[in-house]
Amino acid sequence: MYGHRDVRILLLGDSSVGKTSLILTLVSDEFPEDEVPARAEEITIPPDVTPEKVPTHIVDFSTREQGDEILLEEIERADVICIVYAISKQETIDSITEYWLPLIRNTLGAEHTTPVILVGNKSDLGDSNSLENVVPIMNDYAEIETCVECSARNLKNISEVFFYAQKAVLHPTGPLYSAEDKELKPECKRALCRIFNICDLDNDGILNDYELNLFQRRCFNAPLQPQALDDVKAVVRKNIPEGVQNNGLTQIGFLFLHTLFIQRGRHETTWTVLRKFGYNDHLKLTTEYLRPRLRVGRGSSTELGHLGYQFLTQQFEKYDQDKDGALSPTELQSMFATCPVMPWGPDVNMAVGTNEKGWINLQGYLAQWTLTSLLDVNRTLEYLAYFGYRYVMADHENQLSAIIVTRDKKIDWQKRQTSRNVFQCNVIGCRGAGKTNFLQGLVERSLDHPLLHPEHLSTYTMNTVQVYGQERYLLLHEIDVELTDELTSDDLDCDVVCLMYDISDPRTFEYCAKMYKQHFEHSNIPSLLVAAKSDLHPVRQDYPLQPAQFCASYKIPPPQTYSSTGRPNKDIYIKLATLAAYPVVKGVLVHHPAALWVRDKLLSSAPSVRLMHLKGISHENRSLWLKIGVGAAIAVGCGIVIFKY
Ligand code: GDP
Ligand code: MG
Repeated sequence: MYGHRDVRILLLGDSSVGKTSLILTLVSDEFPEDEVPARAEEITIPPDVTPEKVPTHIVDFSTREQGDEILLEEIERADVICIVYAISKQETIDSITEYWLPLIRNTLGAEHTTPVILVGNKSDLGDSNSLENVVPIMNDYAEIETCVECSARNLKNISEVFFYAQKAVLHPTGPLYSAEDKELKPECKRALCRIFNICDLDNDGILNDYELNLFQRRCFNAPLQPQALDDVKAVVRKNIPEGVQNNGLTQIGFLFLHTLFIQRGRHETTWTVLRKFGYNDHLKLTTEYLRPRLRVGRGSSTELGHLGYQFLTQQFEKYDQDKDGALSPTELQSMFATCPVMPWGPDVNMAVGTNEKGWINLQGYLAQWTLTSLLDVNRTLEYLAYFGYRYVMADHENQLSAIIVTRDKKIDWQKRQTSRNVFQCNVIGCRGAGKTNFLQGLVERSLDHPLLHPEHLSTYTMNTVQVYGQERYLLLHEIDVELTDELTSDDLDCDVVCLMYDISDPRTFEYCAKMYKQHFEHSNIPSLLVAAKSDLHPVRQDYPLQPAQFCASYKIPPPQTYSSTGRPNKDIYIKLATLAAYPVVKGVLVHHPAALWVRDKLLSSAPSVRLMHLKGISHENRSLWLKIGVGAAIAVGCGIVIFKY
């Protein structure tokens, strides 16, 4: 739970102030009246007898027995240093500022974070208000966490000394609170505001009784008594009237409450809350919290699972305040308020579906997270953490439960079935072939769409398509190439490839043919040839085989036509996703009866009206795939494991 596995307490101070006696008194519960040794052996207190349940080492130091080298080493090893003085001896107080504090700063650096506690021993010998002597020192040195007075002889405040020392390590005030300003530090405020936003499940700016109870249960594993709830609200209201509204706690009230905890020395309460939400001692979210280790083997991909979609949908609904089914720029801003930066630039809106104002809608939003999960799953994990997945979905250990790692694609090929839900199609073709248009067609936009800003165009678009009656995600990735370019292994890494040429430009098909022969003829990745700009006049391609002849001789599906004018044609995207979902059309899968059926349909179906344009080019292979409907899903899809959120 804590960043510390154990706590090491070092006792320093002038000779004969009672360091060794303090330690011996703590362990034996009685004051050693007889001679004490110069130095007590290092002792380790087992976790179950310490108030904070962590193993605690207590280390004595004696100038008489030990040299400077050991002293410096011990200062470096210590988690907290107690400087002991005798309240009855002024020179032991003087050496706090003249010797011990400068020594610690010299050893650890002026800005060190090792807390220091001033311990005034032998209180049985002095007057009771000697603490006043050390208060000025405390104000001058930020590293001093607390001052305590005690007496080894009278057994007074002994365990308190060690308790405060332990607490200074485990729950330091430094990062939380500025004693000078009597205020929470900015970093702490920011963390508590994020926590408030996560806990405010309905996003109305107020923690109501339900939300407060949940908060209490999640952070402290105990429900709050109704009376206690009312008491808390009453205290806040009394001190700061705008802290309570509609019988709930506002953000101001929430921050005030924590200020109060800290001012009353109960900062462990605030720390418990902060740690629950992933913060370390420096108020940074821990790596373990942001990016729990996820193993993704070779050939596997990452998708959002049921819980991931459920949580992200809740998140969308929480921030869609006007319930118009889309996130306005302001709504988006407040959704990402729990994150360090706003990660979505205008290109996100170009990559997925939006409403008529260009604002991301639920479908586009889920598509965007699906895209992120496929391409950069750690980023999804990180944002799920910022959004408070662990808090909201408390039954699940961490945000890994939101992610599905698919099995190796090779196994899919062998078993001839896939459980994947998300497929990537790389769209390869010469510059100007029509790829960008084709990508935007997937999200039902054309390039002359008024909301489309060319400078923000993404090389990705993502949307759902129906494959045999099942909703799947298709990611299109545009790869722009010069005719001489070689494809990289990244360019080839996809589930289906779309080779695109321009029907009106004779120099565009050759590249597709070359790429097919070079990379895809003998690969398991299915490919589809797409003839773009089919509304224009087709010309003969500068290549020995015309596209349709080429497809026929290589036994791949005939060229599909695409035009960005008129109503967008969804079929072509469905075909790409279908090829991806039934990966091996060549080779082994052909023997599979269902696959054979699909393949037959792919290669020998009725001529299409659109392809009539191509009459002058080829007569032999004008066929187009049959539209594959839901009926076919029953025949073909029976062996497929399909999941859906
Ligand atoms: P150290 O050199 O700091 O380790 O100090 P010691 O533990 O050896 O104690 C030095 C002397 O102070 C011993 O004679 C102790 O008995 C005495 N002493 C320690 N603590 C107290 C205390 O709380 N009250 C009084 N009156 N004497 C103490
Ligand atoms: Mg000693």
